[in-house]
Amino acid sequence: MTARHQPVLGILGGGQLARMLALAAAPLGVNTLVVDSAADACAGQVAPLRLADWTDYAALEKFAAEVDVVTFDFENVPAETAHWLAERVAVFPDPRALAVAQDRLAEKTLFRECGLQTPAFEAIDTRADLERALATIGAPAILKTRRLGYDGKGQFRIKQLSDADAAWAALGTQASAHGLILEAFVPFERELSVLAARARDGDFRIWPLTQNWHTDGVLSLSLAPAPAVGGLQARAEELARILAERLGYVGVFALELFVKDGQLLGNEMAPRVHNSGHWTIEGAITSQFENHVRAVLGLPLGDTSARGFSAMFNWIGELPDAAPVLSTVDAHWHDYGKQPRLGRKVGHATVCAAKPEVLAARIGEVARTLGREEQAASALHLLAK
Ligand code: AMP
Repeated sequence: MTARHQPVLGILGGGQLARMLALAAAPLGVNTLVVDSAADACAGQVAPLRLADWTDYAALEKFAAEVDVVTFDFENVPAETAHWLAERVAVFPDPRALAVAQDRLAEKTLFRECGLQTPAFEAIDTRADLERALATIGAPAILKTRRLGYDGKGQFRIKQLSDADAAWAALGTQASAHGLILEAFVPFERELSVLAARARDGDFRIWPLTQNWHTDGVLSLSLAPAPAVGGLQARAEELARILAERLGYVGVFALELFVKDGQLLGNEMAPRVHNSGHWTIEGAITSQFENHVRAVLGLPLGDTSARGFSAMFNWIGELPDAAPVLSTVDAHWHDYGKQPRLGRKVGHATVCAAKPEVLAARIGEVARTLGREEQAASALHLLAK
């Protein structure tokens, strides 16, 4: 018998997304190699970790020679590094998609070109630009850095026009380096996300829409399938497919959407697996992590249907007591193996059930014991409809 080659998936970034990708890759017979500059990157607990920063080309050269395919757990890998690697080894998604998603202005412009409406926005490079844009967009509005912002970081909420000075004091220094964007504040009815997967051969799937709740700009609760979405599921699928085809995208991505007056507005695109898709590990036939591994390695995609109903609670800063979750039926605990730190995503739990009313009871149970009733109330209200 001839020796078999086990494919090696290289992942840039060693956070919890890389960790969950490695865990999904293992049963497929796919080994993982992770690159991160932090020795305690949590993916290193489940996969070999190479220590290097994004400009350590000697280390990256060795990494490229050791892997079959490269992907990302982190969209802020410099575009030059992604392009450099793509000249040496297959990189999915294409670094072009990464470049678009790194720039809020390019991203929103592309959304509009693909037929996805967005909040009103203007590019801001100077204080005078801000004045002009505020005159058109009005207040409330949000000033954001075009690059390197995530989880509500690099944002300033302008509640009234007189907040312009404070906004400029907070973010103005970043205007000359990377540019800013002013967006109208959308009093949305709900926040949804669509998780989509596109294979190398163009096969395209989306999971059922997910409804999300954020606290201080960070995802805290997801409910899937999002209840009562009607025609929005088909519309989201159409838009996600147009975007994916336009970018020649391979792998999983997420679109964060606002619903306003029953219509979808595009907030941002994550060119990677996404926090709002963590429920798919236990709640869908194929998880976002498994389908991403399948897509980038050229394997057929798996079914993205939901098995039933799921809710995901994010653990931010530090882990709560695991016992109440572990003793709830069909509840699943995920500890990322990270040190506690303010605002840091350190784990999550997914609660599943075959029926919405059973899920509601389980959410209630977990929320009560962990003191998260207030937040869960809105999800419970929707499930009761
Ligand atoms: P982002 O980092 O752009 O995803 O923003 C984080 C969160 O802030 C979003 O999920 C929303 O809850 C809120 N947010 C961002 N932009 C807007 C906007 N233009 N209008 C209303 N809320 C927003």
